Amino acid sequence: MMKSITIKDVILHPVALSLVELLPISAGTEPFKGAIVVEVITDNGITGWGEVSSAPAPGYTGETVGTSYHVLHNWMANLVKGQTIDDPRQVYDLIHRIRYHEHAKHGLEAAVWDAFAKANDMRLADLLAHYAPEGHESRNKAVVGVSIGLQATDEELFNIIDKRLKQGYRRIKLKIKRGRDVEMAQIVRERYPDISLMLDANSDYTLDDAEHLAQFDQFNLLMIEQPLSHDDIYEHSFLTKKMNTPICLDESIKTVGDLKLALQIGAIDILNLKPARVGGFTESLRCYEVCVEHELPLWIGGMLEVGVGRAANVALASLPGITLPCDISATDRYFDPDITEPPFVLGEGSTLDVPDGYGIGIEVQRERLEEAVAQWYEHDQYVLG
Ligand code: MG
Repeated sequence: MMKSITIKDVILHPVALSLVELLPISAGTEPFKGAIVVEVITDNGITGWGEVSSAPAPGYTGETVGTSYHVLHNWMANLVKGQTIDDPRQVYDLIHRIRYHEHAKHGLEAAVWDAFAKANDMRLADLLAHYAPEGHESRNKAVVGVSIGLQATDEELFNIIDKRLKQGYRRIKLKIKRGRDVEMAQIVRERYPDISLMLDANSDYTLDDAEHLAQFDQFNLLMIEQPLSHDDIYEHSFLTKKMNTPICLDESIKTVGDLKLALQIGAIDILNLKPARVGGFTESLRCYEVCVEHELPLWIGGMLEVGVGRAANVALASLPGITLPCDISATDRYFDPDITEPPFVLGEGSTLDVPDGYGIGIEVQRERLEEAVAQWYEHDQYVLG
């Protein structure tokens, strides 16, 4: 029997941080990292942290830091305040009547999971394992890769790939877009014949491009991620039959129902699971269970999270049903410094360790958090240019 917690307060910290390296994708480039750090305080004085990793602009899901703040502040936080939680999955039911806004839901839910784990002297990784299928225990580390944004020239791309390989990353993901795709993959494959390589199109193609996309089959890719529309499942079911490269869905899968549909009609070979995209850990664990049951290869994706969200992703990625390297890189890929300590450092075999401490296992640095909040208020007029 686990100890329950009662939520006394929810505090929202919108933040902006400079990125060490930008991540240009087919949909555009975010000039800085935006997020909301959610702080949940229990009546016993325990603090739980969660991250809403919606971007400054509505280019991934429709959410932005601004919309997430709006629904959290005006609605979601009030549905959770004063509630006693004896199973962290209850948060899903408390906020489910608010439709969509998955990133916002995830950040709030994650803060409660963190507080609940701390109240029970557990690591978040072990709490997640507790609600995973029987026998699934944390492996205490996550196997990870690195994602490289679109680069203007092949030379710049090679330089970054060389740097990442030297750092020890064993799986390289490249962003592609129309006009910067097949030739680029070819030249990269020629230069690096043996690396584990995958591509992410972030929805830049249509089914009419099937023949063009099938050219990727010659490059022995681990997968191609989200080639077609961000809200499509149906047309992907035709594309999987027109090319041999495994098709991974990211943007299209927002619920466990989407995942079941994609499996049923043969639209998916691999799932990139982002807790932020499916609205939290409860829905993530449902997706996890379906993947295990169907032996669907699964990995955890990233939203350029700050340490709070990164630690939570590492915890989830440490479960044994995660069968492919995840998009969770070391802290120095993203921020200098992050708002949390200690940083995540790339270890042996392209891995990140699950921290030993309870909950997410790392500490938010209050002073840096306040600086990042001040940064946000300097940037909050930002609109997609
Ligand atoms: Mg993706």
